[in-house]
Amino acid sequence: MKNLIKRVYFKFIEFLFPKYITCCFCNEELQEKGLICEKCLKRLPFIKSGCKKCGCEVVSGDYCVRCKNVKFYFDGALSVCDYDNFVKNIIYKYKNGDKYLYEPISFLIEQKIRSGGKDIDLLAFVPITARVLKKRGYNQSALIADYLSKQLNLPCHKAFIKVKESSFQKNITAANRQKNVKGVFLLKEKDKVKGKNVLIIDDIITTGSTLSECAKVFKSGGAKNVWCCTFSAVKAEIAFDKSY
Ligand SMILES: [Zn+2]
Ligand SMILES: [Zn+2]
Repeated sequence: MKNLIKRVYFKFIEFLFPKYITCCFCNEELQEKGLICEKCLKRLPFIKSGCKKCGCEVVSGDYCVRCKNVKFYFDGALSVCDYDNFVKNIIYKYKNGDKYLYEPISFLIEQKIRSGGKDIDLLAFVPITARVLKKRGYNQSALIADYLSKQLNLPCHKAFIKVKESSFQKNITAANRQKNVKGVFLLKEKDKVKGKNVLIIDDIITTGSTLSECAKVFKSGGAKNVWCCTFSAVKAEIAFDKSY
């Protein structure tokens, strides 16, 4: 993981982002033009040892407690960092008006994908309903996927939509989350998905039920493998707590 931090830091100095003179995460003036200051980079809880299935930080072994018991439809998930208060605040700001945060977040996800060694043919993102899109003005996961599509030179499948509103996932138990997302997504243009290795992008993985449902839909549409990559992953022990 040290390598990832080094690569991110190296790239952030090497590639200039002239429009930013302050850090995207803390607003401190940047010594070098870039996206994120060194302090914030050190403060990010990068995942050192991710669960082989869902990507959340594991203390020991290959799988987290959640993945020992739950079956997910995706083949594996990667995540940049753990979910602490610092990350929680970044995601909150990103979903609530600070649209520019797609850039540092996408940049960090890009490094994770590049070091993840997954064979990817097609990108996709977790869609939101037209109502939420109208209210928020943007889909946070779509912005990331668009950035990655350009950087990684991969097509992005946009004919994947959310047709039904699910109840607010945060307030329901993990067991009910799976039921809550059932049938809310619709995959169109299946011919573009058939036989492809798909990578689905989202900002956060909590219980994994949303991404699993998305993966299920892509698999039923003929996708070969479905991987996921998120900015943050809530630890299994915490994700099952109702407060998340
Ligand atoms: Zn900073
Ligand atoms: Zn896991």
